Amino acid sequence: MSAIELHARASKEFEAKLAEARAALQRAAAEFSPATQASSLGAEDVVITHLINSLALDLPVFVLNTGMLHKETLDLLERTEVASRTPITVYEPVVESVVHFVRREGKDAMYKSVDLRKACCHIRKVEPLERALAGQRAWITGLRREQSGTRAEVPLVDTSEEARTGRAKFNPLANWTWGDVWHYIRVHSVDYNPLHDEFYPSIGCQPCTRAISLGEDFRAGRWWWENEAAKECGLHVKETA
Ligand code: SF4
Repeated sequence: MSAIELHARASKEFEAKLAEARAALQRAAAEFSPATQASSLGAEDVVITHLINSLALDLPVFVLNTGMLHKETLDLLERTEVASRTPITVYEPVVESVVHFVRREGKDAMYKSVDLRKACCHIRKVEPLERALAGQRAWITGLRREQSGTRAEVPLVDTSEEARTGRAKFNPLANWTWGDVWHYIRVHSVDYNPLHDEFYPSIGCQPCTRAISLGEDFRAGRWWWENEAAKECGLHVKETA
């Protein structure tokens, strides 16, 4: 059974949530230019890229190729680059940093400690993200409140970091359910990562992602050997005083 057959069930307020997501993207393009979408090519992100393309918005997309992505994700990236109207830019980690880290800590360093896992995420994700966001006034993500306890308060438009970073964060699907996401994918025949058909709701790097079982948390397949509070890669972590 595919992820579409399993999950595509829109909530009652789906049309209102869709209108809200479209309005958020239009606002990002009109009032926060230059703005860009950060895409992991997960289900939420392919929906957002589809919305950007269908609204013909001036919102380019970037993808972080960590060098550790699944083949299925890389294949989807290739197809997206061909099919997307809005440009897709791929950012990669600094080769020397990766080589030194792997030589020093080993290629399985992420399993040895939270600190080493975060160091790997810093080299492969956080630093390339900083380059991707340089000069941008807003970025658009696929965060949803339902995804995990740490994301339960995600607002539609987050300006809390704007004074420090000069950037707002738009989360147009903040109020969407997993069923809403798959309903959109089905209705619009959006191309998606086939790993979702194998019970991967959240897809990251190959060594740090596994399939989950029915009833497990959405993010249970990410860094499953760590406790819940540590489970962010640094991309969406707020500075605390
Ligand atoms: S998710 Fe895993 S492999 Fe990817 S950057 Fe983080 S620690 Fe490294």
